[in-house]
Amino acid sequence: MAEKVLEGQVALVTGGSSGIGAAVSKALGAAGAKVVVNYSRSVKGAQEVVEEIKAGGGEAIPVQADVSQEDQVLAMFQQTYDAYETIDILVNNAGLQKDSSFVDMTLEQWNKVIGVNLTGQFLCAREAVKEFIRRGVVPERSIAAGKIICMSSVHEIIPWAGHCNYAASKGGVMLLMKSMAQELAPYKIRINSIGPGAIKTPINRPAWETPEAEQELLKLIPYKRVGEPEDIGKAAVWLASDRSDYVQGVTLFVDGGMTLYPEFASGG
Ligand code: NAP
Repeated sequence: MAEKVLEGQVALVTGGSSGIGAAVSKALGAAGAKVVVNYSRSVKGAQEVVEEIKAGGGEAIPVQADVSQEDQVLAMFQQTYDAYETIDILVNNAGLQKDSSFVDMTLEQWNKVIGVNLTGQFLCAREAVKEFIRRGVVPERSIAAGKIICMSSVHEIIPWAGHCNYAASKGGVMLLMKSMAQELAPYKIRINSIGPGAIKTPINRPAWETPEAEQELLKLIPYKRVGEPEDIGKAAVWLASDRSDYVQGVTLFVDGGMTLYPEFASGG
């Protein structure tokens, strides 16, 4: 049985209906948090995550909102407060890709990815921070007044041809996260990112679903294993808990070494 290091805390996970967000929601729920599982379209996925958390003895609700829309974000936070009164942990996870060569990329593809991956993180973080500052520290629950985990990517530092909108959004998340962490640390609000490498989820299915594709992918991963969503869930529980209380403004890469320039292992 998982240790209840988040007992009594309220967590909101954006994009909790699939992949990494689903695994993070379940891991936070197993660690004792009450979990608001956000989704934009996948109501079935969100309900399945909620049911699994409840089956394990936890508490959870699904809440629909498109994180790129301010009015929907405000409504989602209100639903969170109606159900659980406050928020202690925000996992800014919702994200998508709209891939294109640079020269053919439409403004719509650009705006969609920046809107969800970057503006969505700003809108949700701003609402969470308002509540953290209003409420302050509740010592029975946590040393910090609140914790935000931004789901970034190895592509906050690795350029990615054919994915300029995505890489720009994650590069933006990196300095959004660090600037918020610097500004809000005096309020005892902890803000960090997780930078996943290649994790098996629907977002990148073609990169791992055939043995040939997986072999190609493994060339980029020194640890020679494609990541599972649960790898990110475990990291999120640690970053959300007081066990990481002195960790502020960093990206924890969970990537099997993808950011270690693997091609230099036998060259250079
Ligand atoms: P996924 O399985 O496709 O899940 C994406 C999630 O985001 C879904 O729950 C989706 O919900 C939600 N979402 C999309 N647009 C939304 C919107 N406008 N408002 C609210 N929710 C929205 O992808 P994933 O791999 O788990 O990705 C999760 C995060 O990890 C993303 O930020 C991604 O960039 C990051 N990441 C993933 C990898 C990887 O290898 N998988 C690597 C690095 C970083 P609906 O289906 O309901 O729209």
